[in-house]
Amino acid sequence: MPVNAFVARSHVLHRALAYEPQKIVSGSGISFTLESGQVVLDACAGPSVSILGHHQPEVTQAIVDQLGKIGYVYSGSRYTCDVAEELADELLQESPGGLVKAIFVNSGSEATDAALKLATQYFCEIGQTERINFVSRKQSYHGNTLGALSVSGHESRRAYYRPWIADNVSFVDPCYGYRAKEVGESDAQYVLKLKQQLENEFLRLGPDTVAAFVAETVSGTTLGCVPPVPGYFAAVREVCDRYGVLLILDEIMCGMGKTGTMHAWEQEGIRGPDIQMVGKALGAGFVPLSGVLLNQKIFDGIAGGSKVLAHGHTFQAHPTACAAALAVQKIIKRDSILDNVSTMGCCLEAELRQEIGHLPYVGDVRGRGLFWAVEFMLDPLTKTSFPVEHNFSNRIVEVSAELGLNILGNLGKTGSFDVELVIISPPYIVTETEIKSIVQLLKRSILLVIEEYT
Ligand code: PLP
Repeated sequence: MPVNAFVARSHVLHRALAYEPQKIVSGSGISFTLESGQVVLDACAGPSVSILGHHQPEVTQAIVDQLGKIGYVYSGSRYTCDVAEELADELLQESPGGLVKAIFVNSGSEATDAALKLATQYFCEIGQTERINFVSRKQSYHGNTLGALSVSGHESRRAYYRPWIADNVSFVDPCYGYRAKEVGESDAQYVLKLKQQLENEFLRLGPDTVAAFVAETVSGTTLGCVPPVPGYFAAVREVCDRYGVLLILDEIMCGMGKTGTMHAWEQEGIRGPDIQMVGKALGAGFVPLSGVLLNQKIFDGIAGGSKVLAHGHTFQAHPTACAAALAVQKIIKRDSILDNVSTMGCCLEAELRQEIGHLPYVGDVRGRGLFWAVEFMLDPLTKTSFPVEHNFSNRIVEVSAELGLNILGNLGKTGSFDVELVIISPPYIVTETEIKSIVQLLKRSILLVIEEYT
C-alpha cells in the first residue's frame, strides 16, 4: 500500500503510514467530533481509556487548580506532593488484596518495566539472586518498551526487535477456553492442564530460578476480552505460592473498574497479586498516568535491604496527572459509577448476544463488565479461523468508522491463534440508549462487511 499523502506531508510520524488519520477537534460525553463535522460514538473509549467520556469539567478544574499551585514536582527522592499522596491513599487505603504502595509512571509499558524490575530487585534484596527468570503467556501483550515486550508473547510486535528481547522469559499457554479447550473437556480439566503446564515450566527452569509469572487477568487486545476460565487464577496462585514465585497481574487494560469491580482479580477468588500494573482508566486519559501497586512483602524486601528503589523517571508521580486521576477516582466513588459499569455491562452483553451473536461468522461473544469482544470465525462450527490477509475484522472497524462508530480491531498476528475480533469497551458513563445505538451500528457494519465478503 502506498504511503498516504497526508502522512507523507505531516511532520508527525504516524503509526499506519497507509492511512490518512482524521483530526478529532472536540469531544463531549461518549462522542468526539471530527474536523469534517462528523460525530463519532466512541464505543471503545479510545483504546479503553476515556472511561468518563471526552470532557469532564470537574477533572478539568482539578488540573487547573493543581497547575495554579505548582506545575511540576520532582518526586525522585526528597520531595512529594499532596495529590500523589492522596491518589495513593485513595487507591490503597483499604489495602485491596494486600496491596499497600504505589509507584506512578506515565505509561502502561513503563509500569510493566517497573514491575519486572521491582520483582528482580526484591529477590536480590532478600538474597535470592538466582531468581532471574520470568514466565509469561503466549499471545499476550504487556507493553512496547523492551522489558515489557520481552514478557509479551505478541509475535508481530516482537518480530523486528528480537535482538533486544530478553532471553530470561519463557511462555506458557494463555487461558483461552473458546479456542483451546478440547471437545468434551470440562473447565476443571482445562484448568488442571494449564496448571500442570505452568508447574512443569517452573520445574524445567528450576523453581528456585523463577522470579514471577506475568498475566493479564482478563486478556485484552491480543485475544479479545477473554475472562479466565473459573478456577484458573486460583490454580495459578497455588502453583506460584508453592514455588515462591511472585504473581504479577497486568490490569492496565482490564482494571480500575472495567469489569465491574475495581480490580478484575477480585472476581477470581484469589487474595490478590504481589505486584499489579494499572493504567488507561486510572486517569481516564485526561493526562497520561499509569501505576504499579505492590504488597507488603515486596516493600519489606526493599525496606529491609538497600532502602533504595533502583528505578525512577523524571516525570513519575507528575502532579498534574495525579490531580486528574485523583479527581477521576473520586468521581467514580462519589457517583457509584461502578454500579453503572455492572448494569450497563449486563445490558451490553444482552444486546450483543441478541443482535449480533447469531450473525454469520460470529464465533464468540465474551467479556465482563464494559469490556467485550466479538470474535469472528470463517466457520464457527469447526472453529476455522479467517485467513489473516482477508482482514475481516479490520474491515468492520473501517466500515464502523464510516458509520460514526469507533471500535477496536485486532492487532495483526499476535500468536498461533489467528484471532479476528472487535472490542467494544465504552466509557463507564454510557447509557442504555447509547448501548443500543452502538450495537445497532456495529450490526450494520458487520452485515455490510458480510455482504462485501460473500
Ligand atoms: N498492558 C496491557 C494489557 C495493555 O493493553 C497495554 C496497552 O494497550 C499495555 C500494557 C501498554 O500500555 P501503554 O500503551 O500505556 O504503554
